[in-house]
Amino acid sequence: MLEKYYDKDADMSAISSKTIAVIGYGSQGRGQALNLKDSGLNVVIGLRPGKSWDLAKSEGFEVMEVADAAKKADVIQILIPDEHQGAVYREQIAKGLTKGKTLMFSHGFNIHFGQIVPPADVDVVMVAPKGPGHMVRRTYTEGKGVPALIAIHQDVSGNARKLALAYAKGIGATRAVVFETSFREETETDLFGEQAVLCGGMTSLIRAGFETLVEAGYAPEMAYLEVLHETKLIVDLIYEGGFTKMRNAISNTAQFGDLTRGPRVIGQESYLAMQEILEEIQTGAFAKEWMLENMVNRPVFTALTKADEEHLIEEVGKEIRATMPQFKNL
Ligand code: NDP
Ligand code: MG
Ligand code: MG
Repeated sequence: MLEKYYDKDADMSAISSKTIAVIGYGSQGRGQALNLKDSGLNVVIGLRPGKSWDLAKSEGFEVMEVADAAKKADVIQILIPDEHQGAVYREQIAKGLTKGKTLMFSHGFNIHFGQIVPPADVDVVMVAPKGPGHMVRRTYTEGKGVPALIAIHQDVSGNARKLALAYAKGIGATRAVVFETSFREETETDLFGEQAVLCGGMTSLIRAGFETLVEAGYAPEMAYLEVLHETKLIVDLIYEGGFTKMRNAISNTAQFGDLTRGPRVIGQESYLAMQEILEEIQTGAFAKEWMLENMVNRPVFTALTKADEEHLIEEVGKEIRATMPQFKNL
């Protein structure tokens, strides 16, 4: 079992006298920076001039060029998109990352796959919230937190774990729970989860169900409500109490169909595909494909995104959600 930490295990004094540079003010950057500031910590934001710069400034932060933030801070948390981190690190962060500082990430991709190779005289740690940035922020303001992972890649100071835990407390994560993992385990499981289950698996499952019903002549609105809209209601039950709570809540008929038909949908072929996908992650083949894709300006990413945005399920969904009050302001 993994080591677990809570509020009582984290001591803010490990970070309270330090300056933290949050590089990027997007999903994670904004959520983490606002929480750190509200926890009384010293935060500056590193960016390039533009929309994020203006937003961070209007929300009360000292904003500066990435290179200046890296130079000024003791702790540098890189929260720009993974595919840009290598270049920004080499061109703007490396010079300011002097002996004794801490380099921090919320995902292990660039360290694990060697896109960033930090000097030997700095600490390198990860504090990775297991939730999107707006949830990191929202739960904090509600007095709660999202769970997070910490990992230590280099511990020159001997204080890397204490500092990672103090940062995790600053963003509210120790109010939930913090697990300790490794850069390798976080990177590989995170990529596998989003590809095979959470994002890739989920959208493919929903789309396949929708297309099957529509091709069989059922109304697209019915197909949408049945296979997309209801997904959340079922997932919420699984989230709250596992498969058992969900199965207690559905009808016996639904449960019998679930138990006997589900394994036919996700059968041997899906297990083999999952194994292959995991291997591509473990061997670095996926990381290489994604880095090369970025070098040629993302033709596959762009074409596939566009095709899915134009899918009937998106069109029908937009119309249906416009009629339901709970989707106003989302
Ligand atoms: P975003 O895509 O939201 O980051 C966008 C931010 O990065 C913007 O502020 C943007 O500024 C800035 N940025 C982009 N390029 C540059 C650049 N060249 N120089 C300076 N600033 C730049 O990132 P995420 O928050 O999604 O991801 C950040 C990290 O957190 C990643 O490592 C990711 O894997 C990890 N993570 C993300 C999660 C999530 O839910 N999104 C969950 C857990 C981990 P501008 O406005 O100028 O473009
Ligand atoms: Mg991820
Ligand atoms: Mg039903």
